[in-house]
Amino acid sequence: MDLETFAHSLAGCRLCPRLVAWREGVAGKRRAFRDEAYWARPVPGFGDPRARILLFGLAPGAHGANRTGRPFTGDASGAFLYPLLHEAGLASRPQSLPGDDLKPYGIYLTAAVRCAPPGNRPTPAEIRTCARWTEAELALLPEVRVYLALGHIAHEALLAHFGLRKRNFPFVHGQAYPLGGGRYLVDSYHVSRQNTQTGRLTREMFLGVLLRAKRLAGL
Ligand code: SF4
Repeated sequence: MDLETFAHSLAGCRLCPRLVAWREGVAGKRRAFRDEAYWARPVPGFGDPRARILLFGLAPGAHGANRTGRPFTGDASGAFLYPLLHEAGLASRPQSLPGDDLKPYGIYLTAAVRCAPPGNRPTPAEIRTCARWTEAELALLPEVRVYLALGHIAHEALLAHFGLRKRNFPFVHGQAYPLGGGRYLVDSYHVSRQNTQTGRLTREMFLGVLLRAKRLAGL
């Protein structure tokens, strides 16, 4: 399987009934986007197939990636993230717009859960269910050296992927845990509006995380 075949298989997934109902039901429910055709399906990852950094988020935003079909695109998370990817030399443009020619360099973006959840909160069962897609997607990215987890849920989903215990690998913003074989798990607060507008995660903090991830990845 390649990433294109993966995206095609993923698009038909309806394993989580609550998320299927939500991703389809929220389409067009925000006034600013009510005339837009929503993606309203599972959102596949986006980026460089030879990525050395995997940016691993939580789940698509209801009116962001669930609308545009591209991770972190169309909402406040992406408005914070992409300019910093560009500044760090990890993206060809400082903005991500549906259908543009943006090219991520050395990085691939995906999430622990691939359908938008109500309140941005997937249940533990939904996270476990979507882990099968994480297994498949990460297997197609053999050159990844740095797994950059955005927030607790992404961190714990990666621990489960690698068979690591939570008590030995607590989530700590800025922490880099060696995984062996020159690979690392790096933690960051999520780029959500809740974190970036309260100052919990600043531009300087996140740029520092990206530059560290680049060094660890040998980029
Ligand atoms: Fe399928 Fe994952 Fe979406 Fe659940 S969250 S329906 S497993 S793609």
